Amino acid sequence: MRLTRQHELFRTSVRSVLERECAAVDEWERAGAMPVHELYRGLGGEGLLGLTLPAGHGGLGLDLGYSYVWAQELGRLAAGSPAMSLSVQTDIVLPLLSAAGSGRVVEEFVRPAVRGERVAALAATEPGGGSDLAAVRTTAVPDGDEVVLDGRKAYITHGSVADFAVVLCHLTAADTAATGLDSLALVVVPADLPGVVRERYGAKLGNRACDHGSLEFTGVRVPREYVLGEPGTGYEWLSRVFTRERAFLAAVAAVRAQRALAGALGRARERGVLGRRLAEHQAVSFALAELDAELALVEQYTGEVFRLLQEDRPALRQASIAKLRATRLEREAAEAQLRVHGGEGYLDGGPVERAWRDARAGALAGGADEALLHLITAYLTTDH
Ligand SMILES: Cc1cc2nc3c(=O)[nH]c(=O)nc-3n(C[C@H](O)[C@H](O)[C@H](O)COP(=O)(O)OP(=O)(O)OC[C@H]3O[C@@H](n4cnc5c(N)ncnc54)[C@H](O)[C@@H]3O)c2cc1C
Repeated sequence: MRLTRQHELFRTSVRSVLERECAAVDEWERAGAMPVHELYRGLGGEGLLGLTLPAGHGGLGLDLGYSYVWAQELGRLAAGSPAMSLSVQTDIVLPLLSAAGSGRVVEEFVRPAVRGERVAALAATEPGGGSDLAAVRTTAVPDGDEVVLDGRKAYITHGSVADFAVVLCHLTAADTAATGLDSLALVVVPADLPGVVRERYGAKLGNRACDHGSLEFTGVRVPREYVLGEPGTGYEWLSRVFTRERAFLAAVAAVRAQRALAGALGRARERGVLGRRLAEHQAVSFALAELDAELALVEQYTGEVFRLLQEDRPALRQASIAKLRATRLEREAAEAQLRVHGGEGYLDGGPVERAWRDARAGALAGGADEALLHLITAYLTTDH
């Protein structure tokens, strides 16, 4: 992705907005919650929640380079939670609703969400499994000018705080047990409707300030206009969502890997062992050099994925590769940082330990590593 002077000017301004709006991120992590509605109103007021959406939908109509810079700047923050939360709103749900939603969806959900007045969730995973679309059991049954939803969703970012969720389900007749890809559909469901029950996950490994919850739908009625896209296009839209999501997560992870590597290097250059700085021990310096080399490649490749997206070219395979390698690198760099910090890293409850905990989500959220390998294998073994 070729970034211009304008993109870099945007970087400077977004950095200072995020430093101001997320100044309390350490506190949020300790408390295990962040004031998501307040944060979103602040960022919405700055125009940051609709960078690439058309002006007619309340956005700024900017190119994907701005989304790339936005991801990178979110990655610079001292915890993973703000990036995990905001990616759902700005680069998963809103681009989807803007592209596939009816006029009513744009008015009732996109515009308010761009202003930061509504918080979104994407509810795809079910208790029966997230990696396998065959596990989707949630149904939306047409009834007059409404559809009626029944089912359960698990591990959903913003699950207990979102104002609405885009729910992956089967659009099907009442007496048909749909399981194939053709009946998959994405439906917008306001969270305050009768029949929606939400529960928050409490203790968790990382990204503690970011909300995660489960959702249960029992006979929930929404207007037909809340079903996204034409009938039979649900799977296609989902693939587009996954592509942009994975590109975004890769860009965030590459910066977080860079942060962890810098932290490891800083410590290795100051701490002495056996009469030499840690960085002068080849076992340490080679390990960090390997990370640096890998990072250079991952950064370059992730930028290329954004370029493909900007040119509206197919990029699911490339985005999956970038996400697989960038999030793995983030884990490796976080591990290296923890290692060179010795006991202090394990015991201080601070950023070194947090980076290690937060990084683990990269192997799951946005697609488990093995699910991505499964997809890459499919490209290897079939003609495209
Ligand atoms: C922090 C976080 C945030 C999340 N946010 C959201 C969200 O906003 N919306 C949403 O819908 N979901 C969300 N998820 C759920 C996430 O998408 C799922 O956890 C993920 O898709 C894996 O599904 P699963 O947990 O059901 O594991 P399963 O599908 O049961 O898989 C279990 C394990 O099996 C292995 N595996 C998977 N596929 C294969 C394969 N083909 N071959 C071999 N091994 C395999 C993997 O190691 C995997 O971890 C989130 C998860 C986390 C941890």
